[in-house]
Amino acid sequence: MLFKDVIGLNEVKARLIESVKSDRISHAQLFLENEGNGAFQLALAYSRYILCSNKAENDSCGKCPSCLKINQLSHPDLHFSFPVQLSSKGKTSDVYLNEWKEMVKGKPYFSESEWNKFLGNENKKGVIGKDESQNILKKLQLKSYEGSYKIVIIYGAETLNPSASNKLLKLIEEPPNKTIFLLTTTSLENILPTIQSRTQLVKINPPKIEAILSFLENNGSNSNQAQEIAYQANGNMAKVLQLMDNEDPQQEYFQFFVEWMRICFSRDVAKAIEFSTSLASIGREKQKGFLSFSLEVFQKSLQGNYLTLDNVHVSPSQKGFLEKFMPFITPSNVLKLHEHITDAHYHVDRNANPKILFLDVSFKLFSLIKR
Ligand SMILES: [Zn+2]
Repeated sequence: MLFKDVIGLNEVKARLIESVKSDRISHAQLFLENEGNGAFQLALAYSRYILCSNKAENDSCGKCPSCLKINQLSHPDLHFSFPVQLSSKGKTSDVYLNEWKEMVKGKPYFSESEWNKFLGNENKKGVIGKDESQNILKKLQLKSYEGSYKIVIIYGAETLNPSASNKLLKLIEEPPNKTIFLLTTTSLENILPTIQSRTQLVKINPPKIEAILSFLENNGSNSNQAQEIAYQANGNMAKVLQLMDNEDPQQEYFQFFVEWMRICFSRDVAKAIEFSTSLASIGREKQKGFLSFSLEVFQKSLQGNYLTLDNVHVSPSQKGFLEKFMPFITPSNVLKLHEHITDAHYHVDRNANPKILFLDVSFKLFSLIKR
């Protein structure tokens, strides 16, 4: 990943490049993004630029020995930590390094659930545990091979468990010489405040729609497909890639949503039971995905009432439905809807019985969505 391969994010790229040129690289930085905006990809391109022995004005050379090693993700001064599913195989990133390299080399952008799936179970959250912090410490005590910086990229820093966080904190407070920590996260509230206060926050805004459109068109999408994908993905590049491969479940979620709302309008108990039963069979990750999707539709509907739909990010295929649906979403019901859906999301995450859960939410929606 060179800077040019990271889609959009021009302003933050320019700042990072400037930090290298002016030799003012902060030794601990926390890259905050919404999922799929490219925090990890940016950290990787930044690391490459720092280590490149023949850097150009705005990007790495891609050809020096350092760049070649980074192509293989095997530069001895660039280390990766990432959440793993604790199993008999082991508890540290090193044990899963081959899988990690395969993932990163195979997909320029990937989601956390794709990584979990790759590890064997998409419904199981990975963790960065205390053994991993110990491991980082060990690696950083070694001398750098190339005499330059040693860099640790910690992907998914919100998955650091408390004892790993505390160990890491000590390292960040008293870092070995010429060491750089680049943490990426989608969830600031799950990062210990002490870590937050000792890292420089690098906020990553979603790539601009124009950048995504031109990426899509350069990769063979026609202009209509590009529009459809770019608006659905809403800045999430992992989703863009899934949609390009037609792996994305959004279309399925949309069909579920339309059906669900019809049932709620008609207050049809028998259909609600049927619907809950079929949702129970799609698996927890998809159930959560569907709930997040529903939340987005409610939000877009409310926005659509105040702006015109052209100013809301809506894909062409969903626009017709939303025009008819959005008058039913008002300031007086949207907060309750939001609450019920986020509650349901919370309970799905904690293994509630999905059939009962979705039926319960449906009944709540019966009274909120009125003609
Ligand atoms: Zn280079």
